Amino acid sequence: MRHRTAVVGGGPAGLTFARVLHRHGHPVTVLERDPAPDARPPGGTLDLREGQGQRALEMAGLLAEFQALSRPEGQAMRILDPDGTVLRDWRPAPGERANPEIDRGQLRDLLLGPLDVQWGRGVAKVVPGGPDGVRVHFEDGRQETYDLVVGADGAWSRVRPAVSSVTPHYTGVTLVETSLDDIDTRHPDLARLIGDGSVAVYGVNRAVVAQRNSGGHVKVYAQYRAPLDRRPDPERDPDPADAEAVRAGLLALFDGWAAPVLDLLRHGTAFARRPLHALPVSHTWTHVPGVTLLGDAAHLMPPLGAGANLAMLDGAELAESLAAGLDDPDETVRAFEERMWARAARWAEITTAGLERLVSPDPAEALALFDQVQQS
Ligand SMILES: Cc1cc2nc3c(=O)[nH]c(=O)nc-3n(C[C@H](O)[C@H](O)[C@H](O)COP(=O)(O)OP(=O)(O)OC[C@H]3O[C@@H](n4cnc5c(N)ncnc54)[C@H](O)[C@@H]3O)c2cc1C
Repeated sequence: MRHRTAVVGGGPAGLTFARVLHRHGHPVTVLERDPAPDARPPGGTLDLREGQGQRALEMAGLLAEFQALSRPEGQAMRILDPDGTVLRDWRPAPGERANPEIDRGQLRDLLLGPLDVQWGRGVAKVVPGGPDGVRVHFEDGRQETYDLVVGADGAWSRVRPAVSSVTPHYTGVTLVETSLDDIDTRHPDLARLIGDGSVAVYGVNRAVVAQRNSGGHVKVYAQYRAPLDRRPDPERDPDPADAEAVRAGLLALFDGWAAPVLDLLRHGTAFARRPLHALPVSHTWTHVPGVTLLGDAAHLMPPLGAGANLAMLDGAELAESLAAGLDDPDETVRAFEERMWARAARWAEITTAGLERLVSPDPAEALALFDQVQQS
Protein backbone atom coordinates (compact mmCIF):
# COMPACT_ATOMS: atom_id res chain seq x y z
CA MET A 1 0.00 0.00 0.00
CA ARG A 2 1.29 3.50 -0.80
CA HIS A 3 1.95 5.92 2.04
CA ARG A 4 -1.25 7.97 2.52
CA THR A 5 -0.23 11.59 3.20
CA ALA A 6 -2.63 14.49 3.80
CA VAL A 7 -1.80 18.13 4.43
CA VAL A 8 -4.45 20.26 6.15
CA GLY A 9 -4.34 23.85 4.84
CA GLY A 10 -3.55 25.31 1.42
CA GLY A 11 -1.55 28.35 2.56
CA PRO A 12 2.16 28.91 1.83
CA ALA A 13 3.24 25.98 4.06
CA GLY A 14 0.74 23.40 2.82
CA LEU A 15 1.00 24.25 -0.87
CA THR A 16 4.81 24.30 -0.84
CA PHE A 17 4.84 20.92 0.94
CA ALA A 18 2.41 19.44 -1.58
CA ARG A 19 4.16 20.96 -4.59
CA VAL A 20 7.59 19.61 -3.64
CA LEU A 21 6.17 16.12 -2.94
CA HIS A 22 4.36 16.31 -6.29
CA ARG A 23 7.66 17.21 -7.99
CA HIS A 24 9.13 14.01 -6.55
CA GLY A 25 6.17 11.98 -7.81
CA HIS A 26 4.57 11.32 -4.41
CA PRO A 27 0.78 11.59 -4.06
CA VAL A 28 -0.53 13.96 -1.37
CA THR A 29 -4.06 15.04 -0.48
CA VAL A 30 -4.49 18.79 0.21
CA LEU A 31 -7.49 19.50 2.45
CA GLU A 32 -8.45 23.21 2.46
CA ARG A 33 -11.37 24.79 4.33
CA ASP A 34 -11.94 27.66 1.85
CA PRO A 35 -14.54 26.66 -0.74
CA ALA A 36 -12.42 27.99 -3.66
CA PRO A 37 -9.00 29.60 -4.23
CA ASP A 38 -10.50 33.10 -4.51
CA ALA A 39 -13.17 32.66 -1.80
CA ARG A 40 -11.67 35.53 0.24
CA PRO A 41 -9.15 38.31 -0.42
CA PRO A 42 -5.69 36.73 -0.40
CA GLY A 43 -4.05 39.38 1.85
CA GLY A 44 -1.10 41.72 1.30
CA THR A 45 2.20 41.40 -0.50
CA LEU A 46 4.93 39.09 0.86
CA ASP A 47 8.67 39.54 0.66
CA LEU A 48 10.39 36.22 -0.02
CA ARG A 49 13.98 35.97 1.12
CA GLU A 50 16.95 34.31 -0.49
CA GLY A 51 17.71 31.18 1.55
CA GLN A 52 14.11 30.96 2.84
CA GLY A 53 11.01 31.50 0.65
CA GLN A 54 13.14 31.68 -2.50
CA ARG A 55 15.04 28.51 -1.51
CA ALA A 56 11.70 26.73 -1.01
CA LEU A 57 10.57 27.81 -4.48
CA GLU A 58 13.84 26.54 -5.91
CA MET A 59 13.14 23.15 -4.28
CA ALA A 60 9.70 23.25 -5.93
CA GLY A 61 11.28 24.06 -9.31
CA LEU A 62 9.52 27.44 -9.37
CA LEU A 63 12.29 29.98 -8.79
CA ALA A 64 12.45 31.24 -12.38
CA GLU A 65 8.69 31.75 -12.49
CA PHE A 66 8.84 33.58 -9.17
CA GLN A 67 11.59 35.87 -10.48
CA ALA A 68 9.46 36.74 -13.49
CA LEU A 69 6.44 37.59 -11.31
CA SER A 70 8.04 39.25 -8.29
CA ARG A 71 8.77 42.94 -7.75
CA PRO A 72 12.39 43.64 -6.68
CA GLU A 73 11.59 47.37 -6.73
CA GLY A 74 9.06 46.61 -3.96
CA GLN A 75 11.99 46.29 -1.53
CA ALA A 76 12.18 50.12 -1.40
CA MET A 77 11.41 51.55 2.03
CA ARG A 78 10.77 55.10 3.20
CA ILE A 79 10.47 56.04 6.87
CA LEU A 80 8.71 59.19 8.07
CA ASP A 81 8.12 60.66 11.45
CA PRO A 82 4.53 61.50 12.38
CA ASP A 83 4.87 65.12 11.19
CA GLY A 84 5.78 63.82 7.71
CA THR A 85 9.55 64.45 7.76
CA VAL A 86 11.40 61.83 5.70
CA LEU A 87 13.93 60.11 7.98
CA ARG A 88 15.13 57.36 5.65
CA ASP A 89 14.60 56.75 1.91
CA TRP A 90 16.15 53.42 0.94
CA ARG A 91 16.02 51.95 -2.55
CA PRO A 92 17.42 48.60 -3.67
CA ALA A 93 20.47 48.64 -5.95
CA PRO A 94 19.82 47.46 -9.54
CA GLY A 95 19.77 43.65 -9.56
CA GLU A 96 19.21 43.41 -5.78
CA ARG A 97 16.99 40.36 -5.23
CA ALA A 98 17.40 39.63 -1.51
CA ASN A 99 13.69 40.10 -0.65
CA PRO A 100 11.53 40.82 -3.72
CA GLU A 101 7.80 41.20 -3.14
CA ILE A 102 5.02 39.07 -4.59
CA ASP A 103 1.25 39.31 -4.20
CA ARG A 104 -0.12 36.47 -2.09
CA GLY A 105 -2.64 35.58 -4.81
CA GLN A 106 0.15 35.28 -7.38
CA LEU A 107 2.19 33.11 -5.02
CA ARG A 108 -0.81 30.87 -4.32
CA ASP A 109 -1.51 30.40 -8.05
CA LEU A 110 2.16 29.69 -8.73
CA LEU A 111 2.22 26.99 -6.05
CA LEU A 112 -1.17 25.55 -7.01
CA GLY A 113 -0.10 24.76 -10.58
CA PRO A 114 -1.03 21.10 -11.20
CA LEU A 115 -2.06 20.35 -7.58
CA ASP A 116 -5.48 18.86 -7.06
CA VAL A 117 -6.62 20.65 -3.89
CA GLN A 118 -9.81 19.46 -2.15
CA TRP A 119 -11.58 22.78 -1.50
CA GLY A 120 -14.32 23.20 1.11
CA ARG A 121 -12.90 20.42 3.31
CA GLY A 122 -12.58 22.03 6.75
CA VAL A 123 -10.99 19.72 9.30
CA ALA A 124 -12.50 19.68 12.79
CA LYS A 125 -9.97 17.44 14.56
CA VAL A 126 -7.33 14.80 14.07
CA VAL A 127 -7.06 11.64 16.20
CA PRO A 128 -3.78 9.72 15.96
CA GLY A 129 -3.08 6.18 17.15
CA GLY A 130 -5.97 4.33 15.46
CA PRO A 131 -5.53 0.77 14.09
CA ASP A 132 -5.72 2.05 10.45
CA GLY A 133 -3.71 5.22 11.01
CA VAL A 134 -4.58 8.83 11.84
CA ARG A 135 -8.29 9.63 11.70
CA VAL A 136 -9.28 13.03 10.24
CA HIS A 137 -12.70 14.31 11.31
CA PHE A 138 -14.16 16.91 8.92
CA GLU A 139 -16.44 19.82 9.85
CA ASP A 140 -19.25 18.16 7.82
CA GLY A 141 -19.04 15.01 9.96
CA ARG A 142 -17.18 12.81 7.47
CA GLN A 143 -14.01 10.93 8.44
CA GLU A 144 -10.93 9.66 6.56
CA THR A 145 -7.76 7.86 7.59
CA TYR A 146 -4.16 8.62 6.61
CA ASP A 147 -0.67 7.39 7.51
CA LEU A 148 0.66 10.95 7.93
CA VAL A 149 -1.36 14.14 8.58
CA VAL A 150 0.56 17.41 8.28
CA GLY A 151 -1.10 20.37 9.98
CA ALA A 152 -0.44 23.50 7.88
CA ASP A 153 -3.69 25.12 8.93
CA GLY A 154 -2.34 28.35 10.36
CA ALA A 155 -2.66 30.25 13.63
CA TRP A 156 -5.83 28.56 14.89
CA SER A 157 -4.84 25.06 13.76
CA ARG A 158 -7.29 22.23 14.36
CA VAL A 159 -4.46 19.72 13.93
CA ARG A 160 -2.26 21.27 16.66
CA PRO A 161 -4.27 19.81 19.62
CA ALA A 162 -3.25 16.31 18.44
CA VAL A 163 0.36 17.11 19.40
CA SER A 164 0.30 20.15 21.71
CA SER A 165 -2.05 21.77 24.20
CA VAL A 166 -0.49 25.22 23.66
CA THR A 167 -2.61 28.00 22.10
CA PRO A 168 -1.51 31.42 20.78
CA HIS A 169 -1.41 34.39 23.18
CA TYR A 170 -2.18 38.04 22.37
CA THR A 171 1.00 40.10 21.86
CA GLY A 172 -0.55 43.37 23.05
CA VAL A 173 -0.45 44.84 19.52
CA THR A 174 -3.47 45.10 17.22
CA LEU A 175 -3.23 45.70 13.51
CA VAL A 176 -6.07 47.18 11.48
CA GLU A 177 -5.74 46.53 7.76
CA THR A 178 -7.31 48.59 5.00
CA SER A 179 -6.62 49.05 1.30
CA LEU A 180 -6.68 51.58 -1.53
CA ASP A 181 -7.17 50.71 -5.21
CA ASP A 182 -5.91 52.44 -8.38
CA ILE A 183 -3.62 54.53 -6.21
CA ASP A 184 -1.72 56.05 -9.16
CA THR A 185 -4.83 57.53 -10.75
CA ARG A 186 -7.05 58.11 -7.72
CA HIS A 187 -4.46 59.32 -5.19
CA PRO A 188 -1.27 60.33 -7.05
CA ASP A 189 0.12 62.19 -4.01
CA LEU A 190 -0.20 59.08 -1.88
CA ALA A 191 1.29 56.99 -4.72
CA ARG A 192 4.36 59.26 -4.68
CA LEU A 193 4.57 59.03 -0.88
CA ILE A 194 4.57 55.21 -0.98
CA GLY A 195 6.89 54.98 -4.00
CA ASP A 196 7.60 51.52 -5.43
CA GLY A 197 7.70 49.75 -2.07
CA SER A 198 6.60 50.72 1.43
CA VAL A 199 6.31 53.75 3.65
CA ALA A 200 6.38 53.38 7.43
CA VAL A 201 5.59 56.03 10.04
CA TYR A 202 6.47 55.36 13.67
CA GLY A 203 5.02 57.23 16.66
CA VAL A 204 4.64 56.50 20.36
CA ASN A 205 3.19 52.97 20.70
CA ARG A 206 1.70 53.15 17.22
CA ALA A 207 2.70 52.94 13.57
CA VAL A 208 1.22 53.17 10.08
CA VAL A 209 2.74 51.10 7.27
CA ALA A 210 1.55 51.25 3.64
CA GLN A 211 2.78 48.72 1.07
CA ARG A 212 2.33 48.73 -2.68
CA ASN A 213 0.99 45.49 -4.18
CA SER A 214 0.79 44.96 -7.93
CA GLY A 215 -1.85 46.68 -10.10
CA GLY A 216 -1.95 49.95 -8.12
CA HIS A 217 -3.33 48.20 -5.01
CA VAL A 218 -2.03 49.38 -1.63
CA LYS A 219 -2.43 47.72 1.76
CA VAL A 220 -2.30 49.96 4.82
CA TYR A 221 -1.60 48.56 8.28
CA ALA A 222 -2.33 50.70 11.36
CA GLN A 223 -0.70 49.13 14.41
CA TYR A 224 -1.12 50.11 18.05
CA ARG A 225 -0.80 48.80 21.58
CA ALA A 226 -4.21 48.11 23.11
CA PRO A 227 -6.01 45.53 25.22
CA LEU A 228 -7.49 42.66 23.20
CA ASP A 229 -10.57 43.92 21.34
CA ARG A 230 -13.14 41.14 21.32
CA ARG A 231 -15.68 42.87 19.06
CA PRO A 232 -16.45 41.10 15.74
CA ASP A 233 -13.92 41.66 12.99
CA PRO A 234 -15.36 44.19 10.51
CA GLU A 235 -14.00 42.04 7.65
CA ARG A 236 -16.07 39.01 8.70
CA ASP A 237 -19.10 41.08 9.63
CA PRO A 238 -19.01 43.86 7.04
CA ASP A 239 -21.53 46.39 8.31
CA PRO A 240 -20.70 49.76 6.64
CA ALA A 241 -21.50 51.55 9.90
CA ASP A 242 -18.80 49.46 11.60
CA ALA A 243 -16.32 50.38 8.86
CA GLU A 244 -17.04 54.08 9.46
CA ALA A 245 -16.67 53.58 13.22
CA VAL A 246 -13.30 51.84 12.71
CA ARG A 247 -12.13 54.63 10.38
CA ALA A 248 -13.20 57.32 12.86
CA GLY A 249 -11.47 55.43 15.69
CA LEU A 250 -8.22 55.25 13.71
CA LEU A 251 -8.35 58.93 12.72
CA ALA A 252 -8.78 59.81 16.42
CA LEU A 253 -5.95 57.46 17.44
CA PHE A 254 -3.55 59.03 14.93
CA ASP A 255 -4.84 62.60 15.43
CA GLY A 256 -2.15 65.20 14.82
CA TRP A 257 -0.14 63.04 12.35
CA ALA A 258 0.72 64.53 8.94
CA ALA A 259 -2.22 64.89 6.53
CA PRO A 260 -0.97 62.39 3.90
CA VAL A 261 -0.55 59.71 6.58
CA LEU A 262 -4.11 60.28 7.79
CA ASP A 263 -5.28 60.21 4.15
CA LEU A 264 -4.05 56.61 3.92
CA LEU A 265 -6.63 55.77 6.61
CA ARG A 266 -9.29 58.22 5.40
CA HIS A 267 -9.39 56.72 1.87
CA GLY A 268 -9.21 53.07 2.97
CA THR A 269 -12.10 51.05 1.53
CA ALA A 270 -12.66 48.16 3.97
CA PHE A 271 -11.20 47.34 7.35
CA ALA A 272 -10.05 44.12 9.02
CA ARG A 273 -9.02 44.00 12.67
CA ARG A 274 -6.19 41.56 13.40
CA PRO A 275 -5.11 41.33 17.04
CA LEU A 276 -1.58 39.91 16.68
CA HIS A 277 -1.15 36.58 18.42
CA ALA A 278 1.92 34.38 18.81
CA LEU A 279 2.90 30.96 20.09
CA PRO A 280 5.63 30.78 22.77
CA VAL A 281 9.09 31.43 21.32
CA SER A 282 10.20 27.81 21.80
CA HIS A 283 7.08 25.85 20.97
CA THR A 284 7.92 22.14 20.77
CA TRP A 285 5.99 18.97 21.51
CA THR A 286 6.58 15.32 22.23
CA HIS A 287 6.68 13.61 18.83
CA VAL A 288 3.40 11.91 17.92
CA PRO A 289 3.68 9.23 15.20
CA GLY A 290 1.61 10.13 12.13
CA VAL A 291 1.05 13.85 12.86
CA THR A 292 3.19 16.96 12.55
CA LEU A 293 2.81 20.73 12.07
CA LEU A 294 4.31 23.29 9.70
CA GLY A 295 4.31 27.09 9.42
CA ASP A 296 2.07 29.22 11.63
CA ALA A 297 0.42 26.09 13.07
CA ALA A 298 3.82 25.16 14.54
CA HIS A 299 5.39 28.57 15.24
CA LEU A 300 3.04 31.56 14.88
CA MET A 301 5.11 34.72 15.42
CA PRO A 302 4.70 38.49 14.97
CA PRO A 303 4.41 39.45 11.26
CA LEU A 304 7.85 40.91 10.61
CA GLY A 305 8.55 39.27 7.28
CA ALA A 306 9.51 35.78 8.50
CA GLY A 307 6.28 33.76 8.81
CA ALA A 308 5.54 32.89 5.18
CA ASN A 309 9.24 32.42 4.44
CA LEU A 310 9.63 29.88 7.25
CA ALA A 311 6.30 28.23 6.41
CA MET A 312 7.47 27.61 2.83
CA LEU A 313 10.90 26.41 3.90
CA ASP A 314 9.29 24.02 6.42
CA GLY A 315 7.02 22.65 3.70
CA ALA A 316 9.79 22.20 1.13
CA GLU A 317 12.24 20.61 3.57
CA LEU A 318 9.75 18.13 5.02
CA ALA A 319 8.63 17.13 1.53
CA GLU A 320 12.22 16.60 0.31
CA SER A 321 13.10 14.60 3.41
CA LEU A 322 10.01 12.42 3.03
CA ALA A 323 10.67 11.89 -0.66
CA ALA A 324 14.14 10.63 0.26
CA GLY A 325 13.14 8.71 3.39
CA LEU A 326 9.75 7.12 2.85
CA ASP A 327 11.07 3.77 4.09
CA ASP A 328 11.00 5.26 7.61
CA PRO A 329 8.66 8.30 7.45
CA ASP A 330 8.24 8.55 11.19
CA GLU A 331 11.97 8.91 11.84
CA THR A 332 12.14 11.40 8.94
CA VAL A 333 9.40 13.54 10.50
CA ARG A 334 11.01 13.35 13.95
CA ALA A 335 14.36 14.59 12.59
CA PHE A 336 12.62 17.34 10.60
CA GLU A 337 10.77 18.59 13.70
CA GLU A 338 14.06 19.07 15.57
CA ARG A 339 15.46 21.19 12.72
CA MET A 340 12.24 23.22 12.33
CA TRP A 341 12.02 23.94 16.08
CA ALA A 342 15.59 25.24 16.27
CA ARG A 343 15.15 27.56 13.26
CA ALA A 344 11.70 28.78 14.32
CA ALA A 345 12.87 29.58 17.86
CA ARG A 346 15.62 31.85 16.48
CA TRP A 347 13.14 33.74 14.30
CA ALA A 348 10.46 33.88 16.98
CA GLU A 349 12.98 35.60 19.25
CA ILE A 350 13.97 38.07 16.51
CA THR A 351 10.38 38.94 15.54
CA THR A 352 9.15 39.18 19.14
CA ALA A 353 11.95 41.62 19.99
CA GLY A 354 11.30 43.42 16.67
CA LEU A 355 7.63 43.99 17.42
CA GLU A 356 8.57 45.50 20.79
CA ARG A 357 10.82 47.98 18.98
CA LEU A 358 8.52 48.82 16.06
CA VAL A 359 5.47 49.55 18.22
CA SER A 360 7.34 51.10 21.11
CA PRO A 361 7.09 53.99 23.59
CA ASP A 362 10.27 55.32 21.92
CA PRO A 363 9.88 55.69 18.11
CA ALA A 364 13.69 56.03 17.80
CA GLU A 365 13.80 52.27 18.48
CA ALA A 366 12.04 51.56 15.16
CA LEU A 367 14.54 53.68 13.26
CA ALA A 368 17.47 52.03 15.04
CA LEU A 369 16.07 48.59 14.14
CA PHE A 370 15.74 49.60 10.48
CA ASP A 371 19.37 50.82 10.43
CA GLN A 372 20.55 47.64 12.13
CA VAL A 373 18.80 45.43 9.55
CA GLN A 374 20.24 47.49 6.65
CA GLN A 375 23.77 47.11 8.03
CA SER A 376 23.52 43.36 8.74
C1 LIG B 1 -0.34 41.71 8.00
C2 LIG B 1 0.61 40.56 7.81
C3 LIG B 1 1.71 40.71 6.97
C4 LIG B 1 2.62 39.67 6.79
N1 LIG B 1 3.70 39.85 5.96
C5 LIG B 1 4.59 38.85 5.80
C6 LIG B 1 5.74 39.00 4.93
O1 LIG B 1 5.95 40.03 4.26
N2 LIG B 1 6.61 37.95 4.82
C7 LIG B 1 6.41 36.79 5.53
O2 LIG B 1 7.25 35.88 5.43
N3 LIG B 1 5.34 36.61 6.33
C8 LIG B 1 4.42 37.59 6.48
N4 LIG B 1 3.33 37.41 7.29
C9 LIG B 1 3.14 36.12 7.97
C10 LIG B 1 2.49 35.12 7.01
O3 LIG B 1 1.27 35.63 6.51
C11 LIG B 1 2.20 33.79 7.70
O4 LIG B 1 3.28 33.41 8.52
C12 LIG B 1 1.97 32.71 6.65
O5 LIG B 1 0.81 33.00 5.89
C13 LIG B 1 1.85 31.34 7.29
O6 LIG B 1 1.57 30.37 6.31
P1 LIG B 1 0.83 29.02 6.69
O7 LIG B 1 0.65 28.28 5.42
O8 LIG B 1 1.52 28.39 7.83
O9 LIG B 1 -0.60 29.49 7.27
P2 LIG B 1 -1.78 30.32 6.58
O10 LIG B 1 -1.26 31.28 5.59
O11 LIG B 1 -2.61 30.84 7.70
O12 LIG B 1 -2.61 29.23 5.78
C14 LIG B 1 -3.40 28.30 6.47
C15 LIG B 1 -4.40 27.69 5.49
O13 LIG B 1 -5.13 26.67 6.18
C16 LIG B 1 -6.53 26.82 5.93
N5 LIG B 1 -7.22 26.29 7.12
C17 LIG B 1 -7.33 26.85 8.34
N6 LIG B 1 -8.01 26.06 9.16
C18 LIG B 1 -8.35 24.95 8.44
C19 LIG B 1 -9.05 23.77 8.77
N7 LIG B 1 -9.54 23.53 10.00
N8 LIG B 1 -9.24 22.83 7.79
C20 LIG B 1 -8.72 23.02 6.53
N9 LIG B 1 -8.04 24.14 6.18
C21 LIG B 1 -7.85 25.08 7.13
C22 LIG B 1 -6.71 28.32 5.75
O14 LIG B 1 -7.90 28.59 5.02
C23 LIG B 1 -5.44 28.68 4.98
O15 LIG B 1 -5.60 28.52 3.59
C24 LIG B 1 2.40 38.44 7.47
C25 LIG B 1 1.30 38.27 8.30
C26 LIG B 1 0.40 39.33 8.47
C27 LIG B 1 -0.79 39.15 9.40
